[in-house]
Amino acid sequence: MQSNKNFFVPEYIQDFRCIGKDCIDSCCVGWNIGIDKETYKKYKNSTNNEIKSIAKKFLVKNDLNSNINYGKFVNQNNCCPFLNRDKLCNAFNLLGQENLSIGCATYPRNIKIFDKIGFIAGSLTCPEIARLCLSKQDLKIKKKNINKLLNIFNSHNVFSTQTTKKISNKKLQFMREVFSTINDNFTFFDTLKQIIIAYEKKGNSKILINHFSKNEKEKIKKDLLISDTNIMATLCFSKLAKRNTQVDQSSIKINNGKNIEDSRFKKIRKIAAIKSEYLFSPKKDFVRKFSFIYNKKFDKFRKKNDFIFKNYFVNEFLKNIENLLNSESTFSDFIREIIFYITLTNFLCVCQLFDDNKKITINSYAEVLSAVLKSVNHSPEKNGQFINLFRKIDKNNTFKRLLALY
Ligand code: SF4
Repeated sequence: MQSNKNFFVPEYIQDFRCIGKDCIDSCCVGWNIGIDKETYKKYKNSTNNEIKSIAKKFLVKNDLNSNINYGKFVNQNNCCPFLNRDKLCNAFNLLGQENLSIGCATYPRNIKIFDKIGFIAGSLTCPEIARLCLSKQDLKIKKKNINKLLNIFNSHNVFSTQTTKKISNKKLQFMREVFSTINDNFTFFDTLKQIIIAYEKKGNSKILINHFSKNEKEKIKKDLLISDTNIMATLCFSKLAKRNTQVDQSSIKINNGKNIEDSRFKKIRKIAAIKSEYLFSPKKDFVRKFSFIYNKKFDKFRKKNDFIFKNYFVNEFLKNIENLLNSESTFSDFIREIIFYITLTNFLCVCQLFDDNKKITINSYAEVLSAVLKSVNHSPEKNGQFINLFRKIDKNNTFKRLLALY
């Protein structure tokens, strides 16, 4: 049980329950599941024959210096070998919740205890937690006692990263200002702007708030929409184009536990390529049509549901709080990273809107964001490359990039 009793949480987290077999994905698909040392030994020496036999075949040592990632499961058909045909976990079924590994018991929650202050956020790679996070209007950060978070601390194996390092008063002040800005009814753009100003006041001038005229703003938005569209198209479609893939509707099967070769991200990329006819149109025509659909169809959705972007930011702020409070340089990169994943998600959603019958909803947006995060956000190396690319294009001016969203 956690020593800390109070946690800052985004309100939606209290509503989360894993939906198991009804999930459009599964956290047991696509990843090699890390197994902590105690669970590794428990599975290897289990008296249950099924557990023992799977552990013998698929559980291998991974990082002997790490307690959490001491072992890992080698995937079978891209899934954890404990995942059964009904998309349920056999370790859970046979041994019960308390015998899940630390990682499995904790996902998709991310818990940090920093100088005795606790923070909880969701991993939006889980489509259900992404849906809850994005659909909560007027999302607030609340301080909650552990007794009110029983859906989170529902097993002894739930893990929190703990650090005894003290947060300086200056940083505590910054954090309070961020929380109060988040809890005010600002738009996403104004929330970020206020936080950037608070950050600069903290003595960091890494991000400058520029004052652009209306015409300058329009030009920045237009230019970045074109350059981002080209970048996102290359990122999402180049492999499809290179392989000259015969992409047709029949090749896309939604994961029902039988066909799990393609990740959700790959399926969404294929659908986006088909709907937008990217592989068969000259690039210039594609970009022109993309800008038209973005402004005509997507912009309405974006303006009406501005809170979904703010909610994503709030969750990620809490999730990354330790890095953000510890490092002076990560804040502008953090903002750039948030905008990168929004831009990539927007791109894939707009490509689907080339189809006149396709409607965008908060749930469909959350599905795409979650798929993007599961496939791309998991690799720190890829993350770094994208941030650098964005930095190059916006000439190290995060505020300019922020404008591109508006
Ligand atoms: S991804 Fe989320 S909803 Fe789906 S099985 Fe995992 S925890 Fe449950």
